[in-house]
Amino acid sequence: QGGDTDGEHVAFYSRDMNQGMQERMRIESGLRAALGSGQLELHYQPKFSISSGQIIGAEALVRWRHPERGLVPPAEFIPLAEATGLVVQVGEWVLEAACSQAQTWKQAGLPPIRLAVNVSAREFTSALPGRVTETLKRYGLEPSWLELEITESTLMHNIDRVIGIMDRITALGVTLSLDDFGTGYSSLSYLKRFPIDTLKIDRSFTTGIPSDANDCAIASTIISIAQQLKHKVIAEGVETVEQLAFLKTSGCDEVQGYLFSKPLPAVEFEKALRENWTPVQVPV
Ligand code: C2E
Ligand code: MG
Ligand code: MG
Ligand code: MG
Repeated sequence: QGGDTDGEHVAFYSRDMNQGMQERMRIESGLRAALGSGQLELHYQPKFSISSGQIIGAEALVRWRHPERGLVPPAEFIPLAEATGLVVQVGEWVLEAACSQAQTWKQAGLPPIRLAVNVSAREFTSALPGRVTETLKRYGLEPSWLELEITESTLMHNIDRVIGIMDRITALGVTLSLDDFGTGYSSLSYLKRFPIDTLKIDRSFTTGIPSDANDCAIASTIISIAQQLKHKVIAEGVETVEQLAFLKTSGCDEVQGYLFSKPLPAVEFEKALRENWTPVQVPV
């Protein structure tokens, strides 16, 4: 608009900023309340072994069941929770809820599947291994039921401290995977030092397979890095049989994506598990 006087511009922008800040504060106090009133829930997306076609695990993904806005995806509140520190409480709730669900499924006699929980950089403190130990014990779960997904941003800070925490977690028998791999800034020279079990190829690379030659090259390179370093490798965001076929040929171990299933509420996930989920097979 106009742009004649600086004064008007300042007023215009600061009014905008105020609205942004008010929106953030509104979301933050809403999220705080949501934590206390059972408005958060976990949805579960299955992970499959490419070679056997068997379900080998599931990723727990948080959603906010908002009284007015409906089901709010994590992209709309996790970044803010990370900025304010509230993500630590969200993370505590998520670990608790995932372990409680695993216990329920275990007691119901369902086949054991490993549940993966996303952990933000701010949660990755020296208190985490103890909290994980205590929570697993309380729900009577083997550590092999749990996987933690961390992103490269977690690894960017004090690297020796982070590796120390990772070692304590893997010593428990809990596995670690490196999420959104290739989108961050972690150095390859550090990669070999991390006690991780699995590399996760980010969806932004999977999406371009097979038409985008660069994405294909990146995906196959990540797969061969994983193989050389003796890590497993999973591709997220698999939506087509062509992508699945490419990943299979390239030696990828596991897949996750809408081709097989969207993240499902616990009840629906359990139903699919009982019905002996058979994923799409790769055409020969
Ligand atoms: P992420 O950990 O990389 O999770 C994968 C995201 O990709 C999920 O989105 C999943 O629904 C989506 N996805 C999986 N397969 C497909 C596909 O085939 N096509 C498409 N279009 N999308 C697919 P979601 O659930 O919205 O979560 C987004 C991000 O929010 C997650 O990315 C993770 O970074 C964060 N997040 C989710 N739950 C938690 C949590 O409990 N704690 C923390 N700290 N972060 C979380
Ligand atoms: Mg993840
Ligand atoms: Mg991911
Ligand atoms: Mg991702």
